[in-house]
Amino acid sequence: MRTTIKAAVTIEGIGLHKGKPAKVTFLPAEGPTGYRFLGPLFKEPLPARLDKVSGTVRGTNITDGTATIYTVEHLLSAAAGLGIDDLDIEITGEEPPAADGSALPFAMALRQAGLQEKPGQERPELTLDGKLEMSKGDIKYCAYPSPGVSFRLTYEYPHKLVGKQTIEFSLTPEEYLVRVAPARTFGFSHELEALKAAGLALGGSLENAVVIAEHEVLAKGGLRFADEFARHKLLDLIGDLALSGLPLRDVRIEAERPGHAANVNFAKLLLEKAKKA
Ligand SMILES: [Zn+2]
Repeated sequence: MRTTIKAAVTIEGIGLHKGKPAKVTFLPAEGPTGYRFLGPLFKEPLPARLDKVSGTVRGTNITDGTATIYTVEHLLSAAAGLGIDDLDIEITGEEPPAADGSALPFAMALRQAGLQEKPGQERPELTLDGKLEMSKGDIKYCAYPSPGVSFRLTYEYPHKLVGKQTIEFSLTPEEYLVRVAPARTFGFSHELEALKAAGLALGGSLENAVVIAEHEVLAKGGLRFADEFARHKLLDLIGDLALSGLPLRDVRIEAERPGHAANVNFAKLLLEKAKKA
């Protein structure tokens, strides 16, 4: 049976990349409509689906051809991680609030709204018959049938304070909330100038991101996990896979050095090869 939330709930702040005031209201969705954005920018609701992806640089963007919503992955990750199938997301600007850089404020808000099941609405899920692989250089993904939904993700970066981090994770709403949702987005101080020159990270600060400098990691309150970077990459992966429009079932996914562009390509491959049971 499909699920949505019971009541509306609002989060406000500023967007990470555009740096503008941002407000989203999560609303219960009546029909089996998946995740949709609505608001003054759109004539019709914009479904958060793979065929609407218009950009994957430092975040995943979706468009209806006229309006674009930037950085949708953290919010979608929270919804998918908590097992919500249908959600209307009213948004006032082009980007959801950065919040604290993680998916936790979204997940907490959705939890606070409460979940409800929708009798009579079917919940098709993605399952695999065999192994699926994708690679490009040292970026690798694979998925294969396995009970439950589990992940193994490796993040690696040639910096003495990062190195190689691997996270093993079995997805349930409770585990997602505790082990994945709190992991914050991060960036390297040496990239910040270039990002800002490219019109990205304009709203970024230590309030909503972890910054890795040459000799130290700048993180408000310290790192939340020793492997917070790998966990955030997993948070992003769960958010990008949610664009398939179908929840995963009985599958294990392994990813090495994932990023948004590859996540989206892998989600497309998964949707194409998987059964919709
Ligand atoms: Zn992210």
